[in-house]
Amino acid sequence: MNRKDNQKFDVVVVGTGNAALCSAIAAKENGVNVLVLERGPKEKRGGNSFFTDGAIRFAYQDKHALKSILTQLTPGEFEKISIPEYQETDFLQDIIAVTEGKSDPELSKQLVEKSYETIEWMKQQGVGFELNENQSFDNNGVRQFWGGLPVKTYRKGIGLVEALFQKLEMLEVEIQYDSRALQLEIENNKVSGIIIEENGLRKKIPAKAVVLACGGFEANKEKRMKYLGEEWGAAIVRGSEFNTGDGLDMAIEAGAQPYGDWSSCHAHTTDFQAPKVGDYKKPGDIYKKSSYPLGLIVNANGERFVDEGADFRNYTYAKYGKETLRQPKQKAFQVFDNQVRPLLRTEYNLEEATCLKADSIEELAEKIGVDKNKFLETIRDYNDAVQDGDYNPAIKDGKGTKGITPPKSNWALSFQQAPFYAYPVTCGITFTFGGIQANKHSKVLDENQNPIPGLFAAGEMIGGLFYGNYPGGSGLMSGAVFGKLAGESAASYAEQFDEVISK
Ligand SMILES: Cc1cc2nc3c(=O)[nH]c(=O)nc-3n(C[C@H](O)[C@H](O)[C@H](O)COP(=O)(O)OP(=O)(O)OC[C@H]3O[C@@H](n4cnc5c(N)ncnc54)[C@H](O)[C@@H]3O)c2cc1C
Repeated sequence: MNRKDNQKFDVVVVGTGNAALCSAIAAKENGVNVLVLERGPKEKRGGNSFFTDGAIRFAYQDKHALKSILTQLTPGEFEKISIPEYQETDFLQDIIAVTEGKSDPELSKQLVEKSYETIEWMKQQGVGFELNENQSFDNNGVRQFWGGLPVKTYRKGIGLVEALFQKLEMLEVEIQYDSRALQLEIENNKVSGIIIEENGLRKKIPAKAVVLACGGFEANKEKRMKYLGEEWGAAIVRGSEFNTGDGLDMAIEAGAQPYGDWSSCHAHTTDFQAPKVGDYKKPGDIYKKSSYPLGLIVNANGERFVDEGADFRNYTYAKYGKETLRQPKQKAFQVFDNQVRPLLRTEYNLEEATCLKADSIEELAEKIGVDKNKFLETIRDYNDAVQDGDYNPAIKDGKGTKGITPPKSNWALSFQQAPFYAYPVTCGITFTFGGIQANKHSKVLDENQNPIPGLFAAGEMIGGLFYGNYPGGSGLMSGAVFGKLAGESAASYAEQFDEVISK
């Protein structure tokens, strides 16, 4: 440890995920001294952000606005791709639609309006970006992107946090590992420091301002069961084991207003054999299974339970993970026939993907162990309900079913061509939506909507943005936008601190 005990910092940032790292960089670049605290050891740094696929959603005028972001593409490669525009109004509309109008208007507007400039800022910090090929289909030789999510960070979350850590190193910002933040110190109604646990001992680190960017409570089984429901005890944790809600507890104890959707979370259909908590040796979001809109999902009774083709995967996956948890044995099977198997995303081809293959539908039912008669009836009813139309996985093609519940609203092809494939899945929790209230400058608010002096928050900790569902790729964007703002606001607060105190 480099710092002297009792050294006072302008800004202490808690966490080493995307939100915290963006905060720490922004604070340091604004001229103050910064300490970063990480609960885990160095080899387990980076939070959920490290585990991500790196998909990042932002508004852009048109394809040409991506030229300065996707700098590794040659002009020729750039010409060959088709990317529909995704304006601020599109992004905002997506948030409003998936949250059923509940998203805090001030926060969602800020997220959307700051998204493009924050991507440019991340690029300046050394973060690389690449095409999100998983969000595209080949359309007669042209790569056709869909769903407002054509970009991901270079080398997924691994590359993202690596780049941000590198920048922090260049800026000579100290990161203290194995340091669990436990409690905020408040004096004269202002933050004056933070209590941490280090080598089993509690210590105070004096600070003018604290940025809490230490995640939600997704890795805390008791809290999951308390706030989300009993069944959430059984969920796999897709990311960091350290996000147990410490930051939320600390902030609420210091007077922060709990905010947003505490009874809901982001979850994803995940390989049934995935590790029970994020494995740092296997990051990159390799266990998710996102191509279900092209196939069917059945439970252990052999019954369908969601409209697989309701929308693009970006707008349904966060919801359907939860539905899987409500099924018998918290298990379901994504099934595909040979027509669509070549269209499945790359995660289906990995050696980590659990796959059962059969030459007939009967054999498939036996192999996956579902109620065979019911499964055959489900497939028969589905096939009978499939309507004519042009099949096109790059758009919502409207080729659906008629007369069955649930329907399949798009991409409905008959399930008929051998061989057949089944992928057993369960529910993996990604992150929780409930948090504390912050304003659009990342200042934490109390129950009277007044900022708590010296307290800032970012990332998963900010409640009010997502309710019930979220548009894929918004978690990283929210972490970066509000992380950067938290760093800037904290630095500005710390700079004025002595002035304010002496008045
Ligand atoms: C498998 C997976 C795939 C995902 N894919 C995507 C994607 O492609 N696109 C997208 O937008 N989002 C994705 N997400 C969601 C995304 O990870 C989050 O929305 C985002 O990374 C949250 O960033 P954060 O900085 O708020 O939290 P985190 O990155 O989780 O960081 C929290 C940090 O706080 C630390 N911490 C916790 N408690 C303490 C404490 N008491 N003291 C000190 N430190 C503490 C943790 O160790 C961690 O470093 C994915 C998540 C997972 C798990």
